[in-house]
Amino acid sequence: MQNRQQIITRFAPSPTGFLHIGGARTALFNYLFARKAGGQFKLRIEDTDRERSTDAAVEAILDGMQWLGLNWDGEVVSQFARADRHREIANLLVSEGKAFRCYCTPEEVETLRAAAFAEGRALRSPWRDGGTPPPDTPFTVRFRAPDSDVVLADAVQGDVRWAAKEFDDLILLRADGNPTYNLAVVVDDHDMGVTHIIRGDDHLVNGGRQSQLYDALGWVRPVFAHIPLIHGPDGKKLSKRHGALGAEAYREMGYLPEGLRNYLARLGWSHGDQELFNDAELIAAFGLEGLNKAPARLDFDKLAYVNHHHMRLAANERLQELLTARLQGRPGLVDGAIAHLRLTPAMDMLKERSKTLAEMETQAYFLLRQRPFDVDDAARKNLSPEALERLSRLRDVLATHTDWSADALGDVLKAFAESEAVGFGKVGQPLRAALTGGAPAPDMGLVLALLGREETLARLDDQTSKA
Ligand code: GLU
Repeated sequence: MQNRQQIITRFAPSPTGFLHIGGARTALFNYLFARKAGGQFKLRIEDTDRERSTDAAVEAILDGMQWLGLNWDGEVVSQFARADRHREIANLLVSEGKAFRCYCTPEEVETLRAAAFAEGRALRSPWRDGGTPPPDTPFTVRFRAPDSDVVLADAVQGDVRWAAKEFDDLILLRADGNPTYNLAVVVDDHDMGVTHIIRGDDHLVNGGRQSQLYDALGWVRPVFAHIPLIHGPDGKKLSKRHGALGAEAYREMGYLPEGLRNYLARLGWSHGDQELFNDAELIAAFGLEGLNKAPARLDFDKLAYVNHHHMRLAANERLQELLTARLQGRPGLVDGAIAHLRLTPAMDMLKERSKTLAEMETQAYFLLRQRPFDVDDAARKNLSPEALERLSRLRDVLATHTDWSADALGDVLKAFAESEAVGFGKVGQPLRAALTGGAPAPDMGLVLALLGREETLARLDDQTSKA
């Protein structure tokens, strides 16, 4: 017997593709709800569709969940492996007269369906009340749809009601003996002790059908919470163009798992005005009452903002490791110990200036460029012969300077501009062009400090020697 007191949730993806953003959010909500209650979060792979299910998709889903930190309890359940148990329950329903063998041919079903449609009701099989089976005819097992209305007390949608005539005599076992989706889900959820099902509202009607099966089996219905699907920024159904991508694509784009987790949690769930949560806060705050009835819109600006918050909180060593892995093998960059030495003191600056790891790569580029490098066209405009002569003089000043801190260097640059009787831009712009090649970079004092004396002088020499 399952302990019915314990909260058990589950995520039940079909392995026909990667862990897309909507699935990740569904998994997250179920995870948070279970963790908050001190219950269990289970994972079931709905791999009954043998043609569309692939091992690669299972791997991608497990990887995505692990990356997002959505750790499940116990073994991963394969739905396909449980087909015998599904058949057992279908046959139990037959023996109780709540399901029956239907000998209609596919053509007959089509005719019946057309007639039912014309009369504005769902399909009823002529075999629902028995009959003499024709010899050697394959049969399906159908649920004998009850005559009473179905009411689903949904935690998000409220009471949802369907008239009895809206539901077919649903197929439970196909002619080849294989169980159908709704039967498999009900049996699995029951056997896994699932108490709460949070999932997309594209399954709302299934929730009605599944409620009928729970009732017929005399099993306690779980609490259903059908959440609106995620929409694109334009309010339309989410598509690839909007970012209906796999978790690994968000990883590639440089979001941290905790940033994406925080953002996804707020996509369709709210807790007052609070936007930023660490994991403990999310678990403490999460509840079904905060789930929204209106569809949430994907908003990449907000995702970037939330991710930036988590980048700032992340340990420098961890970010540096993630950044280094991303930069690995990029041509034109120093690597190994030199890169490590140069990045370590730069991490605070890089965190401030980057909302994602991808932006951090861009922001770190100037530091790691292998010299000598070419200055890009826009920056080269600042390297007139006159500017290069000025940079030569600056180089000599810097060569004698010893305090290599950002502040002291900033003062040196200002004093130099004054001694040249020019505005700071006449010094700063050529210097920036020579030291960064036109790549994004912070204040010049800090650029010099982070590059170090030797590299700074060498990069200046590279440009002035071309004059
Ligand atoms: N396997 C279904 C899907 O991926 C989910 C079923 C459920 O959550 O009940 O859409």
